[in-house]
Order: sequence, then C-alpha cells, then structure tokens
Amino acid sequence: MNATPDPEAPVDAAFLRRWLESATAAVEREAPRLTELDSPIGDADHGTNMRRGFLAARTAVEQEPPPTPGGVLVLIGRTLISTVGGASGPLYGTLLRRAGKELGEEQAVSAARLRDALRAGVDGVATLGGAVPGDKTMLDALLPAVDALTGALDAGGGAADALAAAAAAADEGAAATVPMRARKGRASYLGERSIGHQDPGATSSALLVTALADTARGDG
Ligand code: ADP
Ligand code: MG
Repeated sequence: MNATPDPEAPVDAAFLRRWLESATAAVEREAPRLTELDSPIGDADHGTNMRRGFLAARTAVEQEPPPTPGGVLVLIGRTLISTVGGASGPLYGTLLRRAGKELGEEQAVSAARLRDALRAGVDGVATLGGAVPGDKTMLDALLPAVDALTGALDAGGGAADALAAAAAAADEGAAATVPMRARKGRASYLGERSIGHQDPGATSSALLVTALADTARGDG
C-alpha cells in the first residue's frame, strides 16, 4: 500500500500524518517545559494546552484519516481550535487550517508548495493576533523558519535540508525572544518584567518545525 514518495512532491497525507505523530510525541515530552516557560510570563498552561490539542488532533486524524495533505492540516487546525482554550489554540489552528486550505485537494505537493502554504498560514497568525516580529510571540520562531525554508529552497537545496535549516532558524528565533519585551498576549501585561524569559509559544513553534525536519529526514 505504501507508494514510494515522489521526490518532486514528497509531501502527501502520509508524510503529514507522520509529522503529526512526531509533533505529538515532542509536545508530550516537552509539555512540562512549555508550562514552566509559561509560568513567569503567563498562566502556566501552555504545555497542557498543546498536549490536549495535539492528542485530540492525533485521535481525530487516526479515526478518519484525510486522503490529502491539505485535508490533514485542516483537520488538525480545526481540532486545535475546538479543543484548546488558550490563545495558542486559535493561533495554531489558524496556521494549520490556512496552510491546509492553501494546499487544496492535491494528493501530493512539493516542498515549495508546502512552504507557500506555511507562509500563508503564518500570515494568518499575524492577521489574527496582530503581532509583528519582535513582539515576543510564536511569530518570532515561525517567521525566521519560513524565511530560512524559502532561502534554502531558492538556493536549490532539497526538502530535508531546507526543513533542517528552517528548524535551526526556529530554534534561534525562540532563543532570541529571551531579551524581548512582550507586546502581545498575556505576557504583555508584565511589561518590562517579561524581559529575560523565553516565550513559550515560540518554543512550541520550534518543536513543531523540528518535528517537520525530523519527518523529512525519515527519523520523525
Ligand atoms: P494563553 O496565553 O491564552 O494562556 P497559551 O499559554 O497556550 O495561551 O499560549 C501562549 C503563547 O501564545 C505565547 O507564548 C505566544 O507565543 C502566543 N501568543 C499569544 N498571543 C499572541 C498573539 N497575539 N500573536 C501571536 N502569538 C501569540
Ligand atoms: Mg498560557
């Protein structure tokens, strides 16, 4: 049953189901750390929120696996929106739903199409949340990741290497939120006191992008 992935169009529904497995495992493993990061500058629920959302998404996708990569992303996004109460649910939900819609009904797409879809999803996050780079949010990991993916693919890199570059950029972006002052979300209520802590949402974004790179490398 397992068709060999087309090297020109490596992103199919099975690829994104493997990503969901890998992402859910990473979220489960890192949930305590995400909640810990959300303690000094939030309400200590980011790990719990992400865990609840991704476990629900995994169940939804297992129960009725969508046949297209777009369908997988839309279902995960919808599930996050309906199961996560915190700000991150609608934001990640929008990211994935928008990206999924962008992929349309195709059975398999190229890494470049996935990049364009992720770009649209990240734009959706910016529109919904009103944050800009430097506001100490998930966008500070997501935007550098999409930029690095774009740069690597434009330079002729393969999908796996390009996604590895995106994961490295997301990690750096998350680390770079430490000295930032939060201007959006709960952390912004702290003003200056938000400085010196890594943003939980940027940290979970880096986990999700790393899971994508792991999946492309075949050890997700
Ligand atoms: P809540 O803040 O409602 O408790 P979570 O703790 O699950 O939700 O998620 C917090 C994360 O959501 C923050 O660390 C930040 O990265 C992200 N976030 C919050 N508000 C925004 C926003 N307006 N735009 C982008 N990201 C945001
Ligand atoms: Mg929180």
